[in-house]
Amino acid sequence: MEILKGAEVSAKIKGEVQELLAGIKGKPPKLAIVRVGENPDDMSYERGAIKKMESFGLRAESYAFPGDISDGDFKREFMKINGDEDVSGILLLRPLPGQIRERDIEEMIDPKKDLDGISPINVAKVFAGDASGFAPCTAEAVVEVLKQNDIAITGKRVVIVGRSLVVGKPLAMLMLKENGTVTVCHTRTQDLKGTCRGAQILVAAAGRAKMLDKDYVGQDAVVIDVGINVDEDGKLCGDVDLDSIRDRAAMATPVPGGVGAVTTAVLARHLAEAFINQG
Ligand code: NAP
Repeated sequence: MEILKGAEVSAKIKGEVQELLAGIKGKPPKLAIVRVGENPDDMSYERGAIKKMESFGLRAESYAFPGDISDGDFKREFMKINGDEDVSGILLLRPLPGQIRERDIEEMIDPKKDLDGISPINVAKVFAGDASGFAPCTAEAVVEVLKQNDIAITGKRVVIVGRSLVVGKPLAMLMLKENGTVTVCHTRTQDLKGTCRGAQILVAAAGRAKMLDKDYVGQDAVVIDVGINVDEDGKLCGDVDLDSIRDRAAMATPVPGGVGAVTTAVLARHLAEAFINQG
């Protein structure tokens, strides 16, 4: 089984970002990462994203607010960032605490700065197959791993485990756009193992540590693992039991070192595109 490394895909995307920004004078594009509270997972993602932007020659700044900020105060602060001409793109770390109406923020964010595709306008564009909007970075990262490794999607049986609005659903639309034949599975799916075994491309986005073992994987399948979980020893792991599928799958992404690294690279490319689109 070949291991598809995220770092190699990320390096290719870095080249694309540099090409996009070649000849741009003045300050590089700036990403605003908006965080409410101190969730360690959010903070770790934020550190990774800042590091990635800087390594791509881009700027990133964290805008952190206390976990008990009121709905009104947060919206006022958010609108300042949204309207700041120096900010070309925004990444909002979610979920937000319960007192903030997340739906309102999704509607308030400038679709041109909405790098992770949370605005209803960008969601609609993804579902319409309109590439002028931003898709959620993780969903796009899955397609990117396949494309950059020259793995054809056209005509293939693609099975996605997970139907969230962040990963599963938009990914189904992106895969359809690439002419895959898509099945989306969830907790009510009957014969999950059999359905997954029929996949030529299997994407795991369930958030269940090492749930998918060799019983879920067909011979020579390509397996993309989106999951980020912690195993019983407290170590980071994906939704796929990589050791178990070694003699079954043709290729698979590891966790860590797979889709996650590509997600932040896609975020960087979105930032460069947003900067250019905003002129
Ligand atoms: P989520 O909102 O919890 O959705 C999980 C989906 O998986 C749901 O649709 C759920 O089905 C389905 N599911 C859960 N357990 C299942 C089971 N036993 N059998 C079949 N389906 C099952 O999670 P998410 O936000 O989409 O994230 C999924 C995973 O990706 C998480 O591990 C998350 O940490 C990771 N993630 C990674 C990145 C990255 O950059 N690599 C980015 C975002 C998320 P129901 O709808 O029926 O409940």
